[in-house]
Amino acid sequence: MAGEHTERFLERLPGHAVFSAAGSRDEAMAAFAIPKFPGSFDDALRTLDEHVDWAGHNLGSSRFFAYIPSGGLYESALADYLAAVSNRYAGVGAAAPGATRLEHAMLRWLAGVVGYPATAEGDLTSGGSMATLSAIVAAREARKIKCADVTSSVVYLTAQTHHTFRKALHVAGLSECEIREIPLDANLRMDCAVLEERLCEDRKDGLRPWLIAASAGTTDAGAVDPLDEIADIASEHDAWMHVDAAYGGAFALCGEGRRRLAGIERSDSLILDPHKGFFLPGGIGVVLVRDGQKLFDAYHARGTYMQDVAGDTERSPCDYSAELTRPFRALRFWLPFKVHGSRAFAAALEEKLLLARYFYEECSKIPGIEMGPNPDLSIATFRFCPENADADTASNALADAIRRDGRVFLTTTTIAGRFTIRMAILTYHTHVEDVDVALEVIKDCTAALRAAQDTE
Ligand SMILES: *Cc1c(COP(=O)(O)O)cnc(C)c1O
Repeated sequence: MAGEHTERFLERLPGHAVFSAAGSRDEAMAAFAIPKFPGSFDDALRTLDEHVDWAGHNLGSSRFFAYIPSGGLYESALADYLAAVSNRYAGVGAAAPGATRLEHAMLRWLAGVVGYPATAEGDLTSGGSMATLSAIVAAREARKIKCADVTSSVVYLTAQTHHTFRKALHVAGLSECEIREIPLDANLRMDCAVLEERLCEDRKDGLRPWLIAASAGTTDAGAVDPLDEIADIASEHDAWMHVDAAYGGAFALCGEGRRRLAGIERSDSLILDPHKGFFLPGGIGVVLVRDGQKLFDAYHARGTYMQDVAGDTERSPCDYSAELTRPFRALRFWLPFKVHGSRAFAAALEEKLLLARYFYEECSKIPGIEMGPNPDLSIATFRFCPENADADTASNALADAIRRDGRVFLTTTTIAGRFTIRMAILTYHTHVEDVDVALEVIKDCTAALRAAQDTE
């Protein structure tokens, strides 16, 4: 029954609207109510179909260009099913040697992809936010930052640093660190000359440069900070270099992406979201720490009731994580790669880079459109700046018109105080014809807005 439900869902998915409004909340809550007596499985599936499966963003659409698109590779869904059925205890090596070895194999493989040495260790988390928290705690422990040291420890980031980084600092009890927001250059990358100056000044002032948060693919614009230069500065001043590669890290798998991420292998820690660039369904992030012992030292803990596994030689994920009991996440990561091979992923990622460049070039030809920086990865930004009109107002009107048109789904942001529209290309089945539809929609909508302006 679940199989048939799935088949029907997948058949309808491609033709379905890229965004659907939710139905009645009262009806949904009534349908979700827990019955006292057994109900039918069929009825439960109908509830899913009516109240869950379709409302909101359609991440399965090839015309979803909003936020950071997530994939939904079917093999990953099957893996979740297989993992839950076998229900191996994936937190402790002795309890599930196979599952924990598979997790280690995936971490080793990914460490190799980003160029980390054999000393690297990591953890599979629920997503990028938790991976960031994990990296920050490892960096805190490695640099022995105690309560009394917090206010003299300095963190360097930019206005483009993902908000979950500051959130993680807060959760880790580090929001009272000195925070230096380093300005951006014209390409929305961290200005390394200023970074270097600030580090020197802070040291002169008796502060301790602790953590530099570099971005390898910002959410707003896909910008990659100058990682090699940041690595030079970090090592000169003995600061911990962390790279947020939640979105951009997957591109390390293809040649062109690898070149754009040069220097990432010199960082102390990084995060990467397989539920973004590796096209997996939501629920998996990775943290990697170059010197894996530091991650172990931050998280290793034992209770007396675990004495039976004390002599276990198998690596235990719980020693590298805040979690003990956890889902067997490695399987949802491994199965798609095992079945399709890594080359298929590399080709798909290379395609996304090319599509972003194509979009950038074609979109810049549309009258009134002003493009943001050349895309470093697969996100392009633009504004609508017709003559005699305020660009923020006009861009807002364009975003509205695109939303009403409904053929594609794009979202907006504010960069340096300016209202900006984003085109994020990362769904695995987005191809050139889908990007052409987006261009068509932008052409149609800008033309209509200009015509309306002329008749005013
Ligand atoms: C998505 C994203 C995050 C947060 O990751 P989640 O998986 O949503 O928790 C952090 N940084 C960047 C650059 C991202 O794109």
